[in-house]
Amino acid sequence: MPNSEEKASDMSRRTFLQEISAFQFMAATLGRSSANSSTPKASVSAFDPPADNTTTISNKKKFVAIQIGARSFVDEGVDKCLDTLQEKAAVNVLMPAVFTYGRGLAGRQVPGQPLPDHGVQEYDEIHGGSYTKLHPEFYKGSVIQDFRAPELGNFDVLADVTAKAKTRGMQVYCLFEEAYNPRLIPNFEKIAEVDVYGRVGGSTCHNNPEARLFLASMVKDWLTSNDLDGMMWESERQGPLNNALEAHFGRIGRSRAIHCFCAHCVRKAKDSGIDAERAREGYMALDRWVGQNLSGAQSTDGSFVSLWRLLLDYPEILAWESLWFHSQEEVYGLLYGTAKEANPKAQVGWHIMHLVTMSPLYRAEQNYARLARSSDFIKPSTYNNCGGPRFAQYIRNVQSTVLRECTPQEVLEVHYQVLGYENEPSLDRLPTAGLSADYVARETRRSIAAVPGPVPVYPGIDIDIPTGLNEKRTQPSDVKAAVLAAFKAGAPGVILSRKYAEMKLTNLAGAGEALRELGA
Ligand SMILES: [Zn+2]
Repeated sequence: MPNSEEKASDMSRRTFLQEISAFQFMAATLGRSSANSSTPKASVSAFDPPADNTTTISNKKKFVAIQIGARSFVDEGVDKCLDTLQEKAAVNVLMPAVFTYGRGLAGRQVPGQPLPDHGVQEYDEIHGGSYTKLHPEFYKGSVIQDFRAPELGNFDVLADVTAKAKTRGMQVYCLFEEAYNPRLIPNFEKIAEVDVYGRVGGSTCHNNPEARLFLASMVKDWLTSNDLDGMMWESERQGPLNNALEAHFGRIGRSRAIHCFCAHCVRKAKDSGIDAERAREGYMALDRWVGQNLSGAQSTDGSFVSLWRLLLDYPEILAWESLWFHSQEEVYGLLYGTAKEANPKAQVGWHIMHLVTMSPLYRAEQNYARLARSSDFIKPSTYNNCGGPRFAQYIRNVQSTVLRECTPQEVLEVHYQVLGYENEPSLDRLPTAGLSADYVARETRRSIAAVPGPVPVYPGIDIDIPTGLNEKRTQPSDVKAAVLAAFKAGAPGVILSRKYAEMKLTNLAGAGEALRELGA
């Protein structure tokens, strides 16, 4: 029998879960009233040529943000970091990574990559977790409570940085991502996704109420306990269909992540009239189909036709994919509402995974018009340098599953056409040449045109995002050209990505040079 304290705690947890559901419903269905009532932007073609001068660029103060991990502040000192960011790149918005278990946002340079020209000249180990103090009152109802990152002692990337940044006129937006280490998070299995074979996965389920509560608790804590100007979340994953097809830029052949078939998702599907058992059967058949293609087996009708036939036999496959990304949008809505409740002035936005510039399948799911209802800004990842090797890998992946009758070069050409890119490198040159600044401009214009109303688009600028040592490496002129392209395409700001600790100062200075040229 639970004692009375446990009962009270359970009651308060249940009440909070109900509130969370109500909030999520409100945020997802009502959205931002200002965005709904705003005047649509003038139509801008994603294929317009870039402007050749800067006269059309707004004189309004430009939003120049940078993503930065706590490790850099500890290694280099808070004031020295801020000095460098202001001097080199005129940064006026800090995005400190407040929660992650991944090296993309936390820690020093990734081992194996050359150390940059600043910071401690040694590789580090990361544990990950929260890089800011946890205020227990916000986690009373959560099954996840113990996740403070231990490696930097008591350093608090919000409390120890925000006031100093603000004194200099810089804004502070906390940044977090879906990068978990289940082994290090007690109770993670209670919020985890489950794959089509019943295996527990490494990320959370969007429909698990405990997972939603955990995310909302963190947001409420950060935005209540600190004087923040905003927040950005990175939900860097896609649904089961795209993953099953290996439509990603990771190495092919890893186990295909076909999520989520947990009890919450099955219940939600049932309520939506989707047959979960048929979906499960369909995804297992799809998984076998991909395996056969990858093993080189020939089918009479070829890969594309046989895939389409499978989708016709199991329309539940598409229904489950749709359920997945709509559930992700609900989480955006929940976090938007939670942040606004804690601090109505906070600007809340979303990092959109790099794949949006490569995969038509993923791009179709990222409906910016719908997303804008629960956004104050959107950051499409227009990473042109690492974009070269990543795009090449993506093309080889989908060629080997969906489009086997074409050569990889033909698949690339179709993608350039479908996505609206011109004069980009052929497949043999793509990994070493990277994508052009024009790709940044085109994706910026497309995003601005897709977002209704006043929601700004801040393209992500790639500065030294790791690639193979024999692949495209960032140069100062690349950064300068990408920043110029983003602003000339109409963006009111940029987000320098993905973390300061891996950026060379000489490359960061390329951003500063562009901004000076733009009169910032
Ligand atoms: Zn689930």
